[in-house]
Amino acid sequence: MALENIVALVGGVGGAKLAHGLAQILPPERLTVIVNTGDDFWHYGLKICPDLDTVMYTLAGIVDRTNGWGLAGDTRAMLGAMGRFGETPWFGLGDQDIATHLLRSQALRSGETLTQVTQRLARALGIKPALLPMTDAEMPTMIETVEYGELEFQVYFVKHRWQPTVRAIRYANAESAAVSAAAATALERADAIVIAPSNPWLSIAPILAVPGMRDLLCRRDIPRVAVSPIIDGKAVKGPAAKLMSELGYGEVSARTVAAYYRGLINGYVYDERDAGQPIHEEDMQMVMFDTIMTTEGHRAVLAEKILHWIGSW
Ligand code: GDP
Repeated sequence: MALENIVALVGGVGGAKLAHGLAQILPPERLTVIVNTGDDFWHYGLKICPDLDTVMYTLAGIVDRTNGWGLAGDTRAMLGAMGRFGETPWFGLGDQDIATHLLRSQALRSGETLTQVTQRLARALGIKPALLPMTDAEMPTMIETVEYGELEFQVYFVKHRWQPTVRAIRYANAESAAVSAAAATALERADAIVIAPSNPWLSIAPILAVPGMRDLLCRRDIPRVAVSPIIDGKAVKGPAAKLMSELGYGEVSARTVAAYYRGLINGYVYDERDAGQPIHEEDMQMVMFDTIMTTEGHRAVLAEKILHWIGSW
């Protein structure tokens, strides 16, 4: 099957890696990357979009490779200066990174949509594939915790280092949000959907919660594949495994993630390190690859394998 137009659904660090793999092997006009914006928040008057920025900096080749987010070689002088006023900053904002937030905040205040300003910033950084927020509305992820009640996402994730016990997750304002026009067009033209190995609950679920998104994804019979972020019962990084237990999904495994995506995907990629626990799901094709993307080369190899696999369906 000819797969012309590929749409990737991604969160931050894990998602950016696969988006970068796809960007390395596909002509840019054939790739659209739709990014979670549930993590977005306003801080010191700035609109901060952590996942969009992680993907943008990664695709532009300027990301801090040690952290997987933020800008390479950035400094924290502004945050240091906050101390003079008795402020104890808890969210990392690099000095150069602030340029992104300032320009975006100004654009939003002057009436541009998040899609418009994202496209403008991405183009200025030399990014050629379409990089799109899932929605132009604000639809913040809210985390109901046992210890502190409901927390804004970044307060849970960064300030409390995702240690509180999660009871439930909701997406505020979801009822009045809509898939952005550009994302909807990309999905209507898609020949295949690739869901990155991003956190299913914190990064992919918010995208799926945008009204109309699931219909757009499932409207046509095209390959819709997800890659497991859980390998050998553990998350490669971050709270995915911890959340799975806290939200009562049972066994922490790649199999549980496949079950979570039931009804949405028709193909599932899990890691060959889990070969001892083969996964079977009705209406899902399964494949095992080495999915750990430690180098830029690995990202492209995994992307290539996925596209080759779904191209053979
Ligand atoms: P965040 O928003 O920055 O937390 O990033 P994402 O949600 O996009 O990605 C986090 C998820 O990516 C975690 O659950 C990790 O287990 C997963 N992950 C990170 N790197 C890799 C990798 O190289 N391979 C696989 N399979 N999963 C990964």
